[in-house]
Amino acid sequence: MKNIVILGATGSIGRQALSVARHLKDKFRVLGLSSNSNIALLEQQVKEFNPSYICVGSEKDALRLRKQIPGRIKVFHGNKGLQDLASVREADIVILSVVGAVALYPLVSAIESRKTIALANKEALVIAGNLVNGLIKKHSAGHGKGPVVIPVDSEHSAIFQCLKNEGMNKVEKLIVTGSGGPFYNKKINFGNITVKQALRHPRWKMGKKITIDSATLMNKGLEIIEAHYLFGIEYDKIKLLIHPQSIIHSMVEFIDGSVIGLFSEPDMRLSIQYAVTSPERYPTKIKPLDLENIGKLEFFSPDVKKFPCLKLALEAARAGHTMTAVLNAANEVAVWAFLEGSIKFSCIPEIVEKVMNRHKITKNPALEDVFEADFRARVEARAEIIKETGKC
Ligand code: NDP
Ligand code: MG
Repeated sequence: MKNIVILGATGSIGRQALSVARHLKDKFRVLGLSSNSNIALLEQQVKEFNPSYICVGSEKDALRLRKQIPGRIKVFHGNKGLQDLASVREADIVILSVVGAVALYPLVSAIESRKTIALANKEALVIAGNLVNGLIKKHSAGHGKGPVVIPVDSEHSAIFQCLKNEGMNKVEKLIVTGSGGPFYNKKINFGNITVKQALRHPRWKMGKKITIDSATLMNKGLEIIEAHYLFGIEYDKIKLLIHPQSIIHSMVEFIDGSVIGLFSEPDMRLSIQYAVTSPERYPTKIKPLDLENIGKLEFFSPDVKKFPCLKLALEAARAGHTMTAVLNAANEVAVWAFLEGSIKFSCIPEIVEKVMNRHKITKNPALEDVFEADFRARVEARAEIIKETGKC
């Protein structure tokens, strides 16, 4: 039995991770769970899985839960709580599925505690990939087991699986695929896109933030940065292909010209399960792939003109250092503002671009510099939103 901790248990990935734990209950014990503000769902999950630790966003909720639930369960709260939960001694695997840059706190703590980390969150790597890789290296030195990061994001899980038994020196390029989101082939005025339209993803049912990122194609930009840090490969060797059917989750082209790809029905439970059982495989209840019925698989080059968020992400990737933290922070603020109805869909890239243009890069940032850049970019993005409300 392996003890798993799920950070972000009430989210889309977290709930699917619990369905994997339910399916493989003879292999995994749920040791810890976290939510931010969805306490009602967390309480239901606690009833079913009986964890030893939980973490919630606010101190107030933590105090109430300490009174309400059996004393045997330890209740943490806030960012410090996420860090503590990610490093509890008995945890073997930490599934990191909170959304946003906040995941950097528990990611660092899980690495320092040498955990196996099933990493769904992408923002933490985007903002601090070099630092994260440096920490992994540092804590892998010496005796005993070092930290291990296994990707959950479907594209990166696909690449990870294609690379099984292959060295990076044999790789010509990584081919990251993406459905293109709801607007790829649509002639639509981006200023008029409603929240409802943007949340209607053609292939995947996901949390709100990543669904909007998929509609702007920012998600693909973040994934290219994620791939760069996860697999230690230059940006020139990462190619993006729009593949509307979402059947090939990504591919690796090797130096001999062979290309290996991972095919399946789009279902995140597959990559979540592989991340926690790897290198083993176990049966799942996922719909088998029926290529005869699917009929055709299409591939297109991405349109960076139509999707300026993708262009901005690629620019931030090239600039590196603190720029990816600024890209991500401004985007997080703009996406939540769009979801709240404060700005138009077309304003998301405008705000990100303005904040990025004003940023003065700090080279080789330490963790504090990353958090500082993140904080400042959020302040600037919010100021931009206030200025633009009405116009935007
Ligand atoms: P959701 O919005 O569905 O869930 C987010 C989870 O994080 C919830 O449990 C939420 O708690 C918690 N949370 C939110 N803010 C905070 C905070 N400030 N502190 C602590 N916990 C917080 O997101 P998804 O599951 O869709 O995505 C999670 C991550 O995985 C993202 O980084 C995303 O990019 C990545 N990912 C997601 C995929 C998907 O299919 N959904 C696919 C590939 C990657 P509460 O419910 O209480 O708000
Ligand atoms: Mg993905």
